[in-house]
Amino acid sequence: MMQIINKYSHNHKACVDYFFNMKWPTGFYCEKCGCVHYYFLENRNVFECAKCGHQHYLFARTIFQDNKLPLFKLILGLYLFFSANKGCSAIEMASQLNVNYKTALKLCR
Ligand SMILES: [Zn+2]
Repeated sequence: MMQIINKYSHNHKACVDYFFNMKWPTGFYCEKCGCVHYYFLENRNVFECAKCGHQHYLFARTIFQDNKLPLFKLILGLYLFFSANKGCSAIEMASQLNVNYKTALKLCR
């Protein structure tokens, strides 16, 4: 747990990489043109294809599509969820992440 916090809490790039690797396990590719080169627009968490300019949002078509939480809290939430033996308690998640119960419940699902 401390490892996760140390690695991601103040490192936005590391957080982005985490989700990048989930979205593109074999590296970036553009679903429009197949190009593998991109520009990263950091303030919007968008990957823009270097060839056709198509923009790929980090969370597009993932379970986090409507997420408003900081990336770090999501990573921590995932960690808590997958490291828990008997699944995840939303109450515990809420207190660990310092988010409200409703948000925690959504994460757990
Ligand atoms: Zn493209």
